[in-house]
Amino acid sequence: MTHLLDVLRCPVCSEPLSAQEDSTELPFWRNRVWACSNNHSFDVARQGYLNLLLVQQKKSLTPGDTALSVAARRAFLSAGHYQVLRDAFAEAVAALKPLRALDIGCGEGYYTQVLSPICASVAGIDIAKPAVFTAASSIKNVVWLVGSAIALPLEDASVNLVSSLFSPIPMDEINRVLASNGHLVLAIPAEDHLWSFREALFGEVKAHEPMAKLQTLDEQFELVQQQRISQDLTLDSTALIQLMDMTPYAWKAQPAKREALAQQTALNTKASFVLSVYRKR
Ligand SMILES: [Zn+2]
Repeated sequence: MTHLLDVLRCPVCSEPLSAQEDSTELPFWRNRVWACSNNHSFDVARQGYLNLLLVQQKKSLTPGDTALSVAARRAFLSAGHYQVLRDAFAEAVAALKPLRALDIGCGEGYYTQVLSPICASVAGIDIAKPAVFTAASSIKNVVWLVGSAIALPLEDASVNLVSSLFSPIPMDEINRVLASNGHLVLAIPAEDHLWSFREALFGEVKAHEPMAKLQTLDEQFELVQQQRISQDLTLDSTALIQLMDMTPYAWKAQPAKREALAQQTALNTKASFVLSVYRKR
């Protein structure tokens, strides 16, 4: 029982899900139907992801990131602007050597992919189908799931590590799926994350409040390690447009401010993150 595919559960009735044929080797799990003992069945898409999102879990027809924001984020991240965070994430996980890992809000898998060489088995879950589609099309050896983070389709105490980078933190669900002594790795924006970028968009900027957000975890998780990571960025027009397209709050800016930012040839800003490792209490 080391593989993530052995611990999937039905999003309808919570009974274990299994493939019609034994297919724990990832290349063979494609084009298969997964079902529970109550005959709720789910298809693996041709690109290699399993859609476990129920209609009633969708708040809109196409929940989560749009294809536009997925493509923008993929291009922005591929340029290496947040590489420093990915490296620190990989290092933190490598020190823990988890057997099974789940990445919540995996998006197109930029951070998820570093888990594969470290862990025996890895799953990434996201509510946005375009994001998981992109992830599954290009990154193999990961169990890609379209599903809801507030009702994770995994059995109790089934994973050794959960990560959430710039993504939802459903504490009770994380606690439920983590095995004893399991770890939670989180990355959230630090106070001054993208300060001058946000200033150019909105004029006035409020500092992020990472510590207030993290404080709510204390009851269920014990802090093991915490570090601040930052990276100076010089962003050209292409990168600025990508950053606006991948950031939902950018759409709240006045069109004139967005337009002016898109014309800039070089904006200096700083990405800064708080990366934390917690242990389940
Ligand atoms: Zn079922």
